[in-house]
Amino acid sequence: MNNDEIISALKSTLGADAAIVTDPTITPSYSRDQAPFAEAAAPIAVVLARSVETISQLLKFAHDNSIPVVTRGGGSGLAGGANSSADSIVLSLEKMNEILEIDSKNMIARVQAGVINSHLDQTAKELGLAYLPDPASREWSTIGGNAATNAGGMCCVKYGVTSQHVRAMTVVLATGEIVHLGSATKKAVTTLDLTHLMIGSEGTLGVIAEITVSLAIRPATPSTLIATFPGIQEAAATSTELLKYSPSMLEIVDHTTIQAVEAWKPLGFESAGSVLIMQVDDGSDLTAATDLCTQRGAIDAFFSSDPADTADLIALRKLAYPALERMGMTLLDDVAVPLTKIAELVGRVESIAAKHQLTIAVFGHAGDGNLHPTIVYPHGDADAAARAATAFTEIVIAAQALGGTTSGEHGIGSIKRNLAGQETEPKVQELQRLIKSVFDPRNILNPEKKLS
Ligand SMILES: Cc1cc2nc3c(=O)[nH]c(=O)nc-3n(C[C@H](O)[C@H](O)[C@H](O)COP(=O)(O)OP(=O)(O)OC[C@H]3O[C@@H](n4cnc5c(N)ncnc54)[C@H](O)[C@@H]3O)c2cc1C
Repeated sequence: MNNDEIISALKSTLGADAAIVTDPTITPSYSRDQAPFAEAAAPIAVVLARSVETISQLLKFAHDNSIPVVTRGGGSGLAGGANSSADSIVLSLEKMNEILEIDSKNMIARVQAGVINSHLDQTAKELGLAYLPDPASREWSTIGGNAATNAGGMCCVKYGVTSQHVRAMTVVLATGEIVHLGSATKKAVTTLDLTHLMIGSEGTLGVIAEITVSLAIRPATPSTLIATFPGIQEAAATSTELLKYSPSMLEIVDHTTIQAVEAWKPLGFESAGSVLIMQVDDGSDLTAATDLCTQRGAIDAFFSSDPADTADLIALRKLAYPALERMGMTLLDDVAVPLTKIAELVGRVESIAAKHQLTIAVFGHAGDGNLHPTIVYPHGDADAAARAATAFTEIVIAAQALGGTTSGEHGIGSIKRNLAGQETEPKVQELQRLIKSVFDPRNILNPEKKLS
């Protein structure tokens, strides 16, 4: 089938409620996510589904004709996972944005996959509840995309990642068959856990159409502690000890990041080598935690339980990425290491930065070892871009060598497949390929992504 025949067949196959976009001035805007280096090409067509049935019809058609389908949520991904190829169809779930049910007694919500994370949380808030997973992209990433990437966020140190909040889902298989996985109950061990096989599968095993997630009693307004340290060693070592205070957030910021923020919006941290920011949301007093920071070499440490201070105290962390973006092109990496290896990773990143004459700032989630070394290089400098790409790879290899992993939360997509392959033993790779072939026998779902 040529492209015109595919478009014509799509129009006759899909129900009237599906919008099919083929305008070549629009399709490129659906062709990529936020990863700068990942390959992408405008798809043959973009299908904006409004129902599970439309997804089913599309996948059956694509399966019968062996046409690749790239599922897209908010397009906020950072691994090229939602990037299309010229021979593919993009399935956008942006119109499937309805909260179908909030059951406050059972503390669950059932949503269409295109619901924006913050919309669900704000709706739950009206009932005194919360949807806890809080990726920094929560204002525009979708619940389906969050599940497909197993998104994390700052609250993971206490509340865990997306997978810990998903109970059940409606999935459309590559053949177009519709299956219901999991259970609305908190506990369920009846079947193999196919729900959690879907989570983090990045659109390669099925299309998540609807999801049932757990809600929580909305946590209290947090108290915030901020401590400045002479260097990353002291801050990282102290962060592991702070875990005993059950933080709902525990973030670390290195000297390069501090300098970037101070150059933009001076906050008074210019003399610090590293900063720790911790929150607790259980109402506990932070005096002992503050004293601990001082005993462990903090230059300064204080806390506030006044909600009016919260925004100011976490400003350094919130401004980290935008401050770096101001300085040039950014390449945001995402690795996880054991907590005791955070300082060593930062040291290795500094060496990589010096070797390639690049600025690389490190900030991230000290409480779970998930760090975001961010490479900054001049716009339009092809040589620096090539060095940045090499540094990106070397950072992942450094994390692997420290007992860490290729991605903590952003996923593998297309940009880290080789690196993930290096970390995954051959038998596990074989098992993954077998699973893929069972779920997607013609390899139409996001081919060339995730699996090595
Ligand atoms: C500024 C910024 C901050 C970020 N902060 C965080 C953070 O704190 N934590 C974090 O984990 N990530 C973060 N991210 C990365 C990104 O937001 C997450 O990966 C997010 O979960 C992607 O959701 P999305 O709806 O945008 O999905 P997309 O980018 O559209 O897709 C992501 C992947 O999921 C697949 N997919 C999407 N929807 C479905 C579905 N319904 N069924 C099957 N597959 C699907 C796609 O094919 C693709 O492989 C950030 C990104 C940016 C730009």
